[in-house]
Amino acid sequence: MIGKKIMSCLLVAGVALCLTACEKAMPEVSKDVFAMDTFMNVRVYGENAQETAERCVKEIERLDGLFDAQDPGSEIGRLNSEKNIQISADTFDIICRSGEVSELTEGAFDITVYPVVKLWGFTTGENRVPAEDEIDDALQFVDQSFVEIKGDAADRTASLPDNVEIGLGGIAKGYTSDRLIEIFREEGVMSGIVSLGGNVAAYGTKPGGKPWRVAIENPDVDSKISALKNADYLGVVEVSDKSVITSGGYERFFEDDGVRYHHIIDPSTGYPADSGLISVSIISEDGCLADGLSTALFVMGKDRALSLWSEHRDMFDCILVDDDGAVTITDGISDCFSSGLKYEIYR
Ligand code: ADP
Ligand code: MG
Repeated sequence: MIGKKIMSCLLVAGVALCLTACEKAMPEVSKDVFAMDTFMNVRVYGENAQETAERCVKEIERLDGLFDAQDPGSEIGRLNSEKNIQISADTFDIICRSGEVSELTEGAFDITVYPVVKLWGFTTGENRVPAEDEIDDALQFVDQSFVEIKGDAADRTASLPDNVEIGLGGIAKGYTSDRLIEIFREEGVMSGIVSLGGNVAAYGTKPGGKPWRVAIENPDVDSKISALKNADYLGVVEVSDKSVITSGGYERFFEDDGVRYHHIIDPSTGYPADSGLISVSIISEDGCLADGLSTALFVMGKDRALSLWSEHRDMFDCILVDDDGAVTITDGISDCFSSGLKYEIYR
């Protein structure tokens, strides 16, 4: 199961790298790191590319050390077991951002769904279909408003009621990519691109001035949907200074009795989201928002996703794929999306 996840990340990262190859000679450094349960790549161009890339790797490892709920010594691991602890500025910020996304999506995104994710075995890879009463019991403790954070720059705390636990798997990579882009900016590098398990954040343009080309993986991994069959990828988005983040049920799943169960849970049911969407990509200047929204819109389904976009079109754009293979993109990216597949533009 984990193997499948790794494969799919490699595929996306691979495609992104082929399409973003450096065109002009200038100092270039690329570093690979395995963190947050996935393969990551940081690529930097500019005079101080080496130091910048090294700082980025350290930052990824530092944030992973804070956010990994599976690690009992991380801040999130300790918060889940001790229920009331002092937290760092980063943990404070990411919990705050999670709350914003949860509110924006009326609870479709909710970090307190973590105990339900655990019930399905997605944290360990030992997958099973939980009994209905186990899900009902766990759902009583799923609600973002249970999470309390308070404090100022000198002293910040987080607390959770008994039985409530949080997991940041749906947002940590987006938060981290934003931090890496901040490091690029601080170091004054020319340009760069990071791919955190296929979640891409582009800084500036490619060396030479053209936008970065980011390929979106075809979600029809076992060629069952005729509209998507044989497509190498879903399409390419050309971006600069933006994140492109995709969530899909095909990324991590298991099968039981011929039924497929994936890792994105609908907090209102406790079951894998069954909204009719099989892939959601978000394009935004805000990587943290993009990561949270990619998970949330997958839960919300096409109609709710598009109406959220209509209200907040300045914040993000999206690419939605239905289970029958229909592809819809929002108007804001109509000039920078290309695909060999048929797609509809939502205005
Ligand atoms: P990936 O991490 O594979 O790129 P996502 O960003 O969609 O994909 O995050 C999925 C992860 O987020 C799950 O593995 C789980 O840990 C967590 N999660 C699942 N459902 C939700 C949800 N409704 N809200 C917040 N987090 C979720
Ligand atoms: Mg996400």
